[in-house]
Amino acid sequence: MSRMTPFCSLYRMGRRSKEPPLYSPQIKDFGGKETNEVNTLSNGIKKRAAERLDDTVRILCDLVRTPSFSGNERNVIEVIRREMEAARFDEIRVDGLGNIIGRIGSGSRVVAFDAHIDTVQAGARGLWSFDPFTPKVEDGKVWGRGSVDQKGGMAAMISAGRMLNELDMAGDFTFLFVGSVMEEDCDGLCWQYLIREENIRPEFVVVTEPTDLKIHRGQRGRMEMEVKIGGRSCHGSAPERGDNAIYKISRIALEIEKLNERLAFDPFLGKGTVTVTQATSSSPSLCAVPDAAALWIDRRLTTGETKEIAVREIQDAAARAGYSDATVAVPMYEETAYTGLKYPTEKYYPTWTTPADAPSVTAAVNAFKKIFTREPVVDKWTFSTNGVAISGLHKIPCVGFGPGNEVFAHAPNEACPVEHLRDASAFYAALAAQLNGAL
Ligand SMILES: [Zn+2]
Repeated sequence: MSRMTPFCSLYRMGRRSKEPPLYSPQIKDFGGKETNEVNTLSNGIKKRAAERLDDTVRILCDLVRTPSFSGNERNVIEVIRREMEAARFDEIRVDGLGNIIGRIGSGSRVVAFDAHIDTVQAGARGLWSFDPFTPKVEDGKVWGRGSVDQKGGMAAMISAGRMLNELDMAGDFTFLFVGSVMEEDCDGLCWQYLIREENIRPEFVVVTEPTDLKIHRGQRGRMEMEVKIGGRSCHGSAPERGDNAIYKISRIALEIEKLNERLAFDPFLGKGTVTVTQATSSSPSLCAVPDAAALWIDRRLTTGETKEIAVREIQDAAARAGYSDATVAVPMYEETAYTGLKYPTEKYYPTWTTPADAPSVTAAVNAFKKIFTREPVVDKWTFSTNGVAISGLHKIPCVGFGPGNEVFAHAPNEACPVEHLRDASAFYAALAAQLNGAL
């Protein structure tokens, strides 16, 4: 009962006058009379998340059955808009790149929740045991493309937003719930737009990519590079007259293989890596010595590794192969958003780590402990997230928490545990309460 006091003060503080309360803070609504649970706000949030679970599952199924490949998210954005309207978000708008931003509360402090709502393609249909875009609920999971990566996070966010609204928990904060676009193609581009063009600069951002209900506070960065070398073509019948660009680029590729062994290691994020992902060449004909060749390179960056360092290392690898004249470039991402906008950016996605004792991580850990009554696992992602722009480029701290396990991302028969959806929506609401000192 003692926990009711801060909740009630929050109730008075935040309710907007334009609409009647959707929820009257009666004890019975928190389950105190129906169960023997101690009647706290955290129990109330859990109970509500459980009661709302069917609806959260339905939202996720609606999102899954609306395909949304990168650059083609318009239809799923409309589904999200409909659900945010039903949850009575205070404001819902779509920006020039096509991100949807739902707002709850109008306090002076801003915290954002982010879910990218594009997905990768389904891949080989034969690897799926069902139609990836006809979601099903079976064995305690929601199955379908995007259920883990990461429409589950979006569904949980919408239900959390509804709870914040109904329980009037925004308090001192403005909470933004962002459904972001094009992440699978160019992680963080959406947030470059939100930060630079929409002037959205939250205290921190909760990235709701799958964490298996762990708290994540970092990831290795990444970048792409292209190394090119010229040659001299001649007739294939007399190769000694030419200068074979494929032989040259092959020697560079083998130096890059060796470079991978020398890259930096960080105890939290792990080792930086580099690998060649594509080799191309050109020649006047298949009976001619090639006059140019190139390698595409995937580089994963650990703590302390920057774009400048990574480019220099590839130049050095080329020099070790004997070709200081090779050129190294970071390519641009220049695809068109579904709104028609082009917002080009370099394919450089910097490393980020939020310190374990940062306010965002501390708030997340405390909210977790109160809602789940156990210690959270604090970890990192293996894959890349929008944190590369939010934190890596723009230095806004990120903390991660999401339903589903990242090992199922981009995999056939992708599935998200139903109870993760309940727990994630409870956690997001609890984090808001924690930030307001109400939990
Ligand atoms: Zn993802």
